[in-house]
Amino acid sequence: MDTPEDELAGEVLLPERPDAEPGGDEPDEDGIEVPISALEHFSYCPRQCALIHVEQTYEENVFTVRGTLAHERVDTGDDTPARGVPVARGIPIWSHRLGLFGKADLVELRPEGPYPVEYKVGRREGLHPDLQLCAQALCLEEMLGTPVRRGAIFYRAVRRRHEIVFEEGLRRRTLLAIEAVRAMLRAGSLPAAPNDARCKHCSLRDACLPQVVAEPARLRGLQGALFQPAEGPGGGRDA
Ligand code: SF4
Repeated sequence: MDTPEDELAGEVLLPERPDAEPGGDEPDEDGIEVPISALEHFSYCPRQCALIHVEQTYEENVFTVRGTLAHERVDTGDDTPARGVPVARGIPIWSHRLGLFGKADLVELRPEGPYPVEYKVGRREGLHPDLQLCAQALCLEEMLGTPVRRGAIFYRAVRRRHEIVFEEGLRRRTLLAIEAVRAMLRAGSLPAAPNDARCKHCSLRDACLPQVVAEPARLRGLQGALFQPAEGPGGGRDA
């Protein structure tokens, strides 16, 4: 079996991102670029995506801490043998054509083509990370000028890879998500809170207040109480 040292010996450098040419192939007139990580957030909950990427809100919870640790341990967590395949770890990736940028945890440069691997905590729940991995594939195709047909998500809780095939349907959904996120970034708006089962594990629940903002009448009542003019001398209420 290859050791992590064997894999490191096979690391390769991918091309560096060139500066955008003035008047070059920018994705749209206002040049808004979409972070690849936003696609998973958007797929999970558009409001979560806007809180993070429009309002720059970020709060740690047990899930985000585990996620950070999973990425920090990316060199040791996945013992799937690389079998002598050159790899690139933690590399910046981008697509000028799609206005996308981000980072790939690991790319195996297999004889049949690049094979991106994304590291996640927990186990597989939902298809949200598939969009993120597919966006990585779209970037690598543009950067390396070669098709990227498959990749994998490594789930630390079960220490297993789940292979993803980048078929037409997934590519279409990924492109739609990219444009939806770009429109949201452009508008700078905060979508409504669904206030459903997703909120239970959301790290932004305290910032989002889904139970409050999902009930307009309650929100109006709270706003009314907050902005009630103070009574009495000095702004205090008379006893
Ligand atoms: S708390 Fe719920 S509505 Fe708010 S961002 Fe998280 S998942 Fe979305």
